[in-house]
Amino acid sequence: MNIVDIIAKKRDGDELSSAEIQFFVRGVVSGSVPDYQAAALLMATYLRGMNRRETLDLTLAMRDSGETIDLSGLPGTPAIDKHSTGGVGDKATLVVVPILAACGVPVLKMSGRGLGYSGGTVDKLESIPGFRTHLSIAEAKEIVSRVGAVLIGQSGELAPADKILYALRDVTATIECISLIAASIMSKKLAAGAKRIVLDVKCGKGAFMKTRARAEELAHELVRIGNGAGVPTTAVISAMDEPLGRTVGNALEVREAVQNLLPQGSMLDVGLTGPPDVRFRELSVELAAHGLHAAGVADTPEECVRLAAGSLASGEAYRALERIVAEQGGPSTLQQVIQSLPTAHTILDVASLTEGVVTELDAEKIGRLATEMGAGRLAKTDSIDPAVGIELLCKTGDTVAIGTTLARMHLSERCLNQSSAYAERLLAAYNVGTGDVALLAKRPLIYCDIS
Ligand code: URA
Repeated sequence: MNIVDIIAKKRDGDELSSAEIQFFVRGVVSGSVPDYQAAALLMATYLRGMNRRETLDLTLAMRDSGETIDLSGLPGTPAIDKHSTGGVGDKATLVVVPILAACGVPVLKMSGRGLGYSGGTVDKLESIPGFRTHLSIAEAKEIVSRVGAVLIGQSGELAPADKILYALRDVTATIECISLIAASIMSKKLAAGAKRIVLDVKCGKGAFMKTRARAEELAHELVRIGNGAGVPTTAVISAMDEPLGRTVGNALEVREAVQNLLPQGSMLDVGLTGPPDVRFRELSVELAAHGLHAAGVADTPEECVRLAAGSLASGEAYRALERIVAEQGGPSTLQQVIQSLPTAHTILDVASLTEGVVTELDAEKIGRLATEMGAGRLAKTDSIDPAVGIELLCKTGDTVAIGTTLARMHLSERCLNQSSAYAERLLAAYNVGTGDVALLAKRPLIYCDIS
């Protein structure tokens, strides 16, 4: 077999065989296929596409390019994995995983770091002093066996072909190809060994997939791959036009996750200004319910929603996160977590200049601003400031007067000289005008389920 013939075949729009795809992926990892040939095949694939069989073969070859984890034999139901395609303010993992653990569903959750305006769970977790995200697979499995779940960073040994191909796609304008995106995401998920997968495919201004049609196309492909690989997979398509929840920024998002896990009647002050965000809680409960259903914990989706919400109200999910954090080197209570999270040098409020209804809150603009404030990184090597970020006190559908505080900026000392420019950009992310409050309150959160 010869890589030049394989590139030519795809260039001419022909279908690659399983053996040819495996030859390519093995060559990428061993180095026998150099970057320039891999990049040529990626571009040919971008332009010509791959059919379902080729996409599944590519995913399986990438899954098998490194270590794979065996999660059989954990106590509880089949192990679940939950994955979001990424958005602004998306801290749902920090609520969903504790709910699943509290309901007896084991989760070994591997997450990434944020890059660009979309955040990463590992960065959020690392804002907790002492929290270790780099654990060996053996240690992670051992923690799952004892406390029900573990939250760790992506192991370099899983799907190494994806690491190489993703870096090449990033610099060859070949990221936005459904087959390549789906193979990239699912190769890592399948290598991580879960027996069921629940996907949150984000759709809208702050998401990778800007339109419903593209999000559905990706979701169908991801679900087909999971099921084709023998791992029952479901997806929800959820709105990402405005940030999820009320916070964007790492330590702030941990505070918000804890706020949403607080059992009824708890008086713990998490250090945030606004009340819990109803839509964030609802999405977390829905995603957890999908996981409970997939794991067979209850027969009907309604019963799963009831169980998920019950674990929040009773404090079981709160205690599950407390155990996970303590096991992974963080403080032993969530109260101590809140007290130990970093705080920003200066907090500045941004007030509305007009009155009316918030008809739009642009997630991408907020994400880009938070990144520049230091909450995210523009290049992989950038360091982040866990304390900085934005609290969104008003969101879509809220009625505001002139002078109402829309948001609070948590700034580092280094950025103080930029604060006026940041405030202007924050205001520009809000659209305050005339809108039907009742209609805005009914805007969809989850567009559809795909299984
Ligand atoms: N996330 C991934 O892991 N891979 C992609 O290609 C896109 C998003």
